[in-house]
Amino acid sequence: AADHTMYHAKHAGRNNVCFYGDILHLKSIGREHVAIQARLSDAIRHGALQTFYQPIVSASTGQVYAVEALARWKDGNGWISPELFIPMAEKVGLIQELSSVVAEQAFAQLRAWRDNGLTQKLMLNVSRTQLFTPQFVSSLIERLNTHRLRPEDVIIEITESVALTDYARQVKHLRQLMASGFQLAIDDFGTGYSSLSQLHDMPASVIKVDVSFAQRLDTDAGRRVMQAIVQLAQGLQLKVIVEGVESLEVSHFLRDLGVDFLQGFHFSEPVPAGVAELWMRLGLANKA
Ligand code: C2E
Ligand code: MG
Ligand code: MG
Ligand code: MG
Repeated sequence: AADHTMYHAKHAGRNNVCFYGDILHLKSIGREHVAIQARLSDAIRHGALQTFYQPIVSASTGQVYAVEALARWKDGNGWISPELFIPMAEKVGLIQELSSVVAEQAFAQLRAWRDNGLTQKLMLNVSRTQLFTPQFVSSLIERLNTHRLRPEDVIIEITESVALTDYARQVKHLRQLMASGFQLAIDDFGTGYSSLSQLHDMPASVIKVDVSFAQRLDTDAGRRVMQAIVQLAQGLQLKVIVEGVESLEVSHFLRDLGVDFLQGFHFSEPVPAGVAELWMRLGLANKA
């Protein structure tokens, strides 16, 4: 049991390990379904969910262009990864509630940062279930309004696997988002069932190249693939963010390739708002 009960929380510090075996075990449906639902719902209500932030940095200037909001669940022993609890929340019908908490925290934070002349843009992950919820767009706008924010202040991230299945239905929802003023980014680009014929009329203005591509730049083939993706995006007039930038060398390589924005541990891991505020004030230009 030992190997699958440990989760190496990279983003929470390289040596932090938290135990999630009991939660992983609960993934199977049944009696456990009720247990995980109770536990997650409890976490949502008692403030155990916290939003972390990771910078998206301009490749040419090193300025923080936006911050991505990433959900974290603090569960006794440590931080549980969203890779684990987001799919669970969808399965047990809590994704709506969970997303409201993240959006509320992130919008309030963005308001505070803007009032202090700090970060102007927020990137928010949206899952398939949310996207297909009838009141999703209107309730998001309503929530923005209560913080004196506009859709233009937010970039919605949709993962590619979501972005390219159930296509016609999604395009309708995505167009509605765009028409309301939101910018759209295709997240984890390159990992889904990419159909280039569909990409050209996707209502999106940004692609986020999946972490796995930045990790393969030590080979000639890996560098060529990255170059091809950047050229494709430029040809379609899409901005490019590369995720998973872990070194200065990679950051320079991508900048020289014409990548617009960079995101990764080299600049900062996802961190609590207070820490994010430090790099907003001090800047990350020395890392670009
Ligand atoms: P994502 O949106 O693609 O977020 C990027 C993930 O890559 C984050 O994992 C981040 O910690 C990780 N990452 C950032 N820089 C590096 C790097 O340099 N190297 C490596 N190896 N990884 C890096 P995280 O925070 O565990 O989030 C996992 C996924 O969970 C996210 O992937 C996103 O799809 C989902 N997620 C997180 N928060 C939310 C949320 O509030 N709502 C929804 N619907 N999904 C969320
Ligand atoms: Mg994302
Ligand atoms: Mg991604
Ligand atoms: Mg992802």
